[in-house]
Amino acid sequence: MNRVVSVVVPVFNEEAGIVDFLDEQLLPVVRGLKYEIEVVLVNDGSSDKTLEKINGCKLKNKIDFKLISLARNFGKEIALTAGVNHASGDAVVMIDADGQHPVEMIPRMIEKWEDGAQIVTAVRDENTTKHKLGSKFYYAMMRTFGNKDVVVGAMDFRLIDRGVADEFNKFTERNRLTRGLVDWIGIPQTYIKVKTKDRTSGKPTYSTKKLAALTMDSLASSSRTPLIIFGYIGMFITIISLILGSFILIQQYILGDPLKLDWSGAVAMSVFVSFLVGLVLISQAITALYISQIHTEAKGRPLYIINKRQSMGIDKKKK
Ligand code: UDP
Ligand code: MG
Repeated sequence: MNRVVSVVVPVFNEEAGIVDFLDEQLLPVVRGLKYEIEVVLVNDGSSDKTLEKINGCKLKNKIDFKLISLARNFGKEIALTAGVNHASGDAVVMIDADGQHPVEMIPRMIEKWEDGAQIVTAVRDENTTKHKLGSKFYYAMMRTFGNKDVVVGAMDFRLIDRGVADEFNKFTERNRLTRGLVDWIGIPQTYIKVKTKDRTSGKPTYSTKKLAALTMDSLASSSRTPLIIFGYIGMFITIISLILGSFILIQQYILGDPLKLDWSGAVAMSVFVSFLVGLVLISQAITALYISQIHTEAKGRPLYIINKRQSMGIDKKKK
């Protein structure tokens, strides 16, 4: 039986470039492959003429083509998820429709997959593109507080094996980042460097504001370090004010101010207030830990991911 490769494309308001992408870029590349190809296009509630353009493309009459239309715009991550859910291939390639992901790399990804790679991730070749300030900030935050292994320049252009897609389909969380989930699965990834291109038409949706929101979201979903930092600050304040408070108590009120500091009651008062602030921060961090436990449970992620199943040892029948 022929093996099938699915190509999943999320599309939102790409009327200007979608036909060029499907017919001029994607079609020639996938036709050259020795696999059966299935294109799963997810129309993420486009409000322009995208759908009409898709219906007029050549590609849909030449290869197996699934068009999934979402009822409204759900955002790229959800559109991508819908696409992977509906892909039936032995390998699933995810690619943007805006022409930024070089389709000519798909055969390279497939080669790596044939060599046994289960996840092939495209990484922006740093020599060709300068990182925007926004994405630099994103990576700096993620590296410091979130997932330490986040690979700089990893793109949403990747190939996953059927096994990985099956695991991916088990995730039920709503607020999701495909990249984060694929990283979380933990199956080693093979990276290939690619040169990105400029968007062929239309506008990118990740504005600075969206990128900032994305940074906060991925931090909140991948790390509780920020919460714990405040707990530590609280502990620090509490300990310092405890020491300071004991010092004031002993030197001023018990020993009768031998150092002649002559501190007023206001000093003692502010030390006491800082002590309380410290306690509040600590208790907040403790509450946050409980919340983060609830958060983890609520996400309902699979308990574990099996990479490979092997049976070894003696064959009972032959004994
Ligand atoms: N996209 C989508 N839903 C959205 C926004 C974008 O399906 O709400 C698609 C879009 O058509 C494109 C891909 O996701 O194929 C990447 O979008 P974009 O180029 O705007 O994002 P960026 O390149 O900035 O990551
Ligand atoms: Mg883009």
